[in-house]
Amino acid sequence: MNIHEYQAKELLAKFGVAVPKGIPAMSVEEAVAAAKQLPGPLYVVKAQIHAGGRGKGKFKELGPDAKGGVRLAKSLAEVEAHAREMLGNTLVTVQTGEAGKQVNRLYITDGVDIGKEFYLALLVDRATSRIAVVASTEGGMNIEDVAHETPEKIHTVTIDPATGLMPHHGRVVAKALGLSGDLARQAQAILAGLYAAFLGTDAEQIEINPLAVCPTPEGNKLYVLDAKVGFDGNAMFRHKDLLELRDTTEEDPAELEASEFDLAYIKLDGNIGCMVNGAGLAMATMDIIKLNGEFPANFLDVGGGASKEKVTAAFKIILKDPAVKGILVNIFGGIMKCDIIADGIVAAAKEVNLSVPLVVRLEGTNVQQGKDILANSGLPIVPANDLGDAAKKIVAEVRAVA
Ligand code: ADP
Ligand code: MG
Repeated sequence: MNIHEYQAKELLAKFGVAVPKGIPAMSVEEAVAAAKQLPGPLYVVKAQIHAGGRGKGKFKELGPDAKGGVRLAKSLAEVEAHAREMLGNTLVTVQTGEAGKQVNRLYITDGVDIGKEFYLALLVDRATSRIAVVASTEGGMNIEDVAHETPEKIHTVTIDPATGLMPHHGRVVAKALGLSGDLARQAQAILAGLYAAFLGTDAEQIEINPLAVCPTPEGNKLYVLDAKVGFDGNAMFRHKDLLELRDTTEEDPAELEASEFDLAYIKLDGNIGCMVNGAGLAMATMDIIKLNGEFPANFLDVGGGASKEKVTAAFKIILKDPAVKGILVNIFGGIMKCDIIADGIVAAAKEVNLSVPLVVRLEGTNVQQGKDILANSGLPIVPANDLGDAAKKIVAEVRAVA
């Protein structure tokens, strides 16, 4: 689960991380009222969408010369003008895809002078099964580009969970950023706050880009200027308070509907809808579709107990995708017997008025009864004997329609 920048910063501030003052706003009036509460005279008006690259992004409705989704304002009037232009319009960034995202929230924040920008992130490194800290002097840039062009500028430190974050980790990170003295101490404090936040919220990712050195009358200060925080969805039951930060308007509607039925659904770009039980089998099904020359339209794991209700919901979600030209059901009857699943498939296919070819491969307990139910259903269901057979058949069906 991802949250907005302003929510991430409010959260990180609770863990002692230095962020500039800021206030979220849902309307032009709120934006001006927010700016009035900040010291000024420089403000930043920031579009709040669940995607990065906002600064360099473009609004669909505004001309190519219009400013992006992160704008400096030197007066309340400028804050008002920017808020008016941004709210309700669609911001397209390198991360949103062509469709872009509608801006419904803004963050009005203190504008700071920036000396230098760094990159600092914490994530779960699957290779080491540890939290990794990734630091780079190349802040404010797309980190994937840095990794590609100048990989030597990216430093990674993994943290042993048995010791947790140690002072030496902080020193290594400060050194990687080229910081010494007071700024190094500030970097260590920020890292400690980020680490505590990561553990305390069961985060999956905390990305600060940029972490900036800001000259102030009291000397140089390190500030988190942008924060992207994502939590482990499987741990959310432990964090009811964080669930309130969820903004479902930022989520894919089909994925949202799937989550209500406890279905693991991810939309993909192909034309063969897949309904499978078990994530491993779902992955194998997608692979074999590709091996046969077509592409899956989705990943969908209906889980161990594939009830009629779940199967019906899954069919409906798959069929809402106009790209779907055929459906492959691949279910192993282990916990659930094949005849029960077949009943579910037949009932669901009738209920949703199936309009595309359907290939079903069943295997497991009571498989023959299951196949008989499909064969006697009166529906044009194409039975398949194994995974390879199923993939070939659905690919042939889809190509026959095209
Ligand atoms: P995004 O990564 O989505 O483009 P950022 O929050 O990183 O959005 O903002 C883009 C750039 O805008 C930053 O790299 C920084 O240079 C500048 N910026 C962001 N926040 C501030 C701020 N509070 N004061 C001054 N400049 C800022
Ligand atoms: Mg950024």
